[in-house]
Amino acid sequence: MIEHPFIAQAREAVGAAHVLTQDLAAYAVDWKEKYHGRPLAVVRPGNTAEVSAVVQLCAQHRLSIVPQGGNTGMCGAATPDDSGQQVVITLSRLNKIRAVDPANNTMTVEAGCVLQTLQETAESVNRLYPLSVGSEGSCQIGGNIATNAGGVQVLRYGNTRDLVLGLEVVLPSGEVLDLLRGLRKDNTGYDLKHLFIGSEGTLGLITAATLKLMPLPSAHAVGMVAVKSPALAVELLQHMRDRMGERFSAFELMSHAMVALTRRVFPALPQPFAQAHDWYVLMEVADGGADAALTADFQSALEQALERELVIDVVITQSQAQARALWELRDNVSEAQQHDAPNIKHDISLPVSQVPRFIDEVSAELASKFPGSRLFCFGHLGDGNLHFNLSRPEGTDNALWLKKNDAVNDVVHAAVARFNGSISAEHGIGQQKVDELPRYKSALELEVMRAIKRALDPLQLMNPGKVLR
Ligand SMILES: Cc1cc2nc3c(=O)[nH]c(=O)nc-3n(C[C@H](O)[C@H](O)[C@H](O)COP(=O)(O)OP(=O)(O)OC[C@H]3O[C@@H](n4cnc5c(N)ncnc54)[C@H](O)[C@@H]3O)c2cc1C
Repeated sequence: MIEHPFIAQAREAVGAAHVLTQDLAAYAVDWKEKYHGRPLAVVRPGNTAEVSAVVQLCAQHRLSIVPQGGNTGMCGAATPDDSGQQVVITLSRLNKIRAVDPANNTMTVEAGCVLQTLQETAESVNRLYPLSVGSEGSCQIGGNIATNAGGVQVLRYGNTRDLVLGLEVVLPSGEVLDLLRGLRKDNTGYDLKHLFIGSEGTLGLITAATLKLMPLPSAHAVGMVAVKSPALAVELLQHMRDRMGERFSAFELMSHAMVALTRRVFPALPQPFAQAHDWYVLMEVADGGADAALTADFQSALEQALERELVIDVVITQSQAQARALWELRDNVSEAQQHDAPNIKHDISLPVSQVPRFIDEVSAELASKFPGSRLFCFGHLGDGNLHFNLSRPEGTDNALWLKKNDAVNDVVHAAVARFNGSISAEHGIGQQKVDELPRYKSALELEVMRAIKRALDPLQLMNPGKVLR
């Protein structure tokens, strides 16, 4: 077979060892193994100049580009199509820490750095990089920025968008846009970095970022409570925020069904309560100073919650090992669902005050329209973000269940729209929700998005078929 001329030129640009044309399976499928593609090649540039050279070659040959980071995304956004004409550019070799500036509370890092490495880098200078997600051992900061990742500490520190001060981006033309500023104040016109944050690789390739660092808390307290209902969980959230203020960093809701499935798949995970309850909340508070003082405040706030009957039962961890074990329970819920696949997943956000009514109404509607289906609900309740996933009735056929995908989405997403929510809180649109987006955004909002895309990517080469059609 005649090799596409791009391949030889790409080898020239980045070195033959970094242009892969065989054994591409790992780059051609998403984490959930729902989307499968067939890339022309996978190219692994080693620095920004090489990224720029490869992008120019793609433009010259009119080959579209699929940026890929850790490939842990949940909506097929980093998966090429099956045309055999798309080039996957993986950023993994851009993994240098360019600078750490503790006095400015910033670090400048390359896009392929794994999130956990950045958390450790921050900690080594007594700072915190607060983004924390279940995939942190393999997702990359470029992917985090391109998806505006959320995670478990948004309540206190915000989304990735709130943690990025500057970016370096290779535009679809191959030009390098240097926005790498470490400034907290800079009102000099449009803040272009925000266009690329959450753009899912459709506007350019992020090659480096300047990130905010926070004070590293020295004290932590972690607890899990059982609550009777999501409505009481929302009241508890208010109570705990009033009592703990800025120290409050995570508030994760999990249904009994979700916890039971996770423990069934991973039996070594802890069983926090002797008796089963309908709902649980995992909480963390963190501060400077000593553990003992913080734990005393946390305990007193929870005792008050017990007196007010906001919670039924409370476990406060007594050691770091116990705290880690409770977090492992939470971090493994996505993996557990992979074992129970296929499930029809939703990543939605709602005004926090509306979450209980949403759960009540939509659970009832799903139960009546899809008898025997099993709902797994969990999420970052402090941010109004729910993962609301429906699995097939036990013992029924997988393929038949997946045929109900659109009908299930219709119920959930129509309710999200009624409650003024979002059909994608943190995972993005990718290819999974691209056809649904026009139903939930105004024609004008979509046209403004398309105008931006046309201006930056006139050849429509950057990750086509994702976010916008
Ligand atoms: C177990 C598990 C738990 C998770 N928990 C959370 C969570 O709590 N919160 C959350 O928000 N997400 C979560 N995710 C989803 C996922 O980890 C995040 O979306 C993550 O930010 C993706 O990073 P990545 O490097 O894997 O990106 P990829 O999956 O490789 O790519 C994602 C998107 O970013 C684009 N992209 C990647 N790198 C670049 C770049 N350098 N420049 C331009 N575009 C780029 C891709 O084209 C694609 O559109 C979870 C995933 C798993 C598997």
